[in-house]
Amino acid sequence: MKKLLFFIFLNLLYSQPIDFSLYKLESKNLTNKPVLLIMSGIQGDEPGAFNATSILIKYYKIIDGNVWVVPNLNQYSILKNNRGIYGDMNRKFANLDSSDPDYKIIQNIKKLILDENVGSILHLHDGSGFYRDKYISNLLNQNRWGNCSIIDQNSLLEYNDLNNNISNIVNHINENLLNEIHRFHVRNTNTANGDSEQLKSLTYFATLNKKLAYASEASKSLPLGERVYYHLLAIEGMLKLMNIEFKRDFTLDIKSINNLINDKNTNIVINDIIELPLYNIKPHLNYFPIPKENLKFYSNTPIVWLFKDDKNFRIKNGNKNLVSLKPLFIEFDDSLKNITLDIDNSEIEVPIGTIIKAKNSFKITNLPYRVNVIGFQQSGLNSEVDVEIKRSDLLNKFAIDKNNTKFRVEFYKQEKNKKDEFAGMIIIDFSETNKDDTQKLH
Ligand SMILES: [Zn+2]
Repeated sequence: MKKLLFFIFLNLLYSQPIDFSLYKLESKNLTNKPVLLIMSGIQGDEPGAFNATSILIKYYKIIDGNVWVVPNLNQYSILKNNRGIYGDMNRKFANLDSSDPDYKIIQNIKKLILDENVGSILHLHDGSGFYRDKYISNLLNQNRWGNCSIIDQNSLLEYNDLNNNISNIVNHINENLLNEIHRFHVRNTNTANGDSEQLKSLTYFATLNKKLAYASEASKSLPLGERVYYHLLAIEGMLKLMNIEFKRDFTLDIKSINNLINDKNTNIVINDIIELPLYNIKPHLNYFPIPKENLKFYSNTPIVWLFKDDKNFRIKNGNKNLVSLKPLFIEFDDSLKNITLDIDNSEIEVPIGTIIKAKNSFKITNLPYRVNVIGFQQSGLNSEVDVEIKRSDLLNKFAIDKNNTKFRVEFYKQEKNKKDEFAGMIIIDFSETNKDDTQKLH
């Protein structure tokens, strides 16, 4: 998996709401092509949109052009799986009182939209049912928003006829339909002629400020993978329209998309001394080290987020719960950089905060820190340094994943007359242990 261009750090999230993230996908050779700004997550209960932008950031490469992506415009509402905790954020672009909790986010995103480099805007949503220009059924009619491309007016500014441009994108999507009922249509809200709700929207704000802006909606009637599929088709249609060259390293079909949504390599790195693999993780982990202050994290997946939720901490992928961490609040210490271990009787050195595969056994060697192997019950020792530990010595209930293959090894700095400080973690991954061996365990 390719590395993200940059990571997001943030301070502990006691105060809400949360700022959005910005990823810049730019070709190596900088071009002076106008930036395409793609946004999702303005409404927190539209996972098709923010899973699509997350996949765009992780798995697309821009060969020629500039694409900026905001996957999580309303991050706090995404975490709460709520359309808008402080009301509909997409109705706050005309007038907004400075006391509104979303005020700062709106100011920041407006500034980004108005950035002189930004030429065009694509705003992604999940909408209900399937839009049709006349009533066909409860699910297919003119009051539905699913599977349509929305423009605020017919012809726009000095750009070409927007209606024609958008038709190209809609045609591109319709050439790749999974089912005839999914057919996309252009919906012109004619906002300037009296749609008072749309006057307050992000795309209308952008249009007023001479940006080529349109919104694309995938239907909430569709399963997540299919919504993402249509969003990616809309994104690719827009990239082509803006003459931006790109590559993706997967086939655009539902099976591949579902694999990317549940990527086996999804991780979170906490304060640079813990890397926690998140695939198939158990729903609760106990006594998980959390610093009393200055918690920071990044993930290889833009919509993975760590936050304090009542007494526990929680990690979510978009609005999907992954794990709740019962915190062990402790001072963090960053003096320990590398660990020497015997893995299956061969010696290796790894940085703190890594995931290491082992088949049968491991041993932490020669280390002036206290070693605590979570799930190792037999030692009665203060520290498990220089103890050879086999997979069969570890209790399944302490594994971090549902398959009982991954275990925490924690390091603590000890000083006289001082409380222990947490110096980091490594994860030992026994997933390649012989199946026959595993069945004999506990
Ligand atoms: Zn929406």
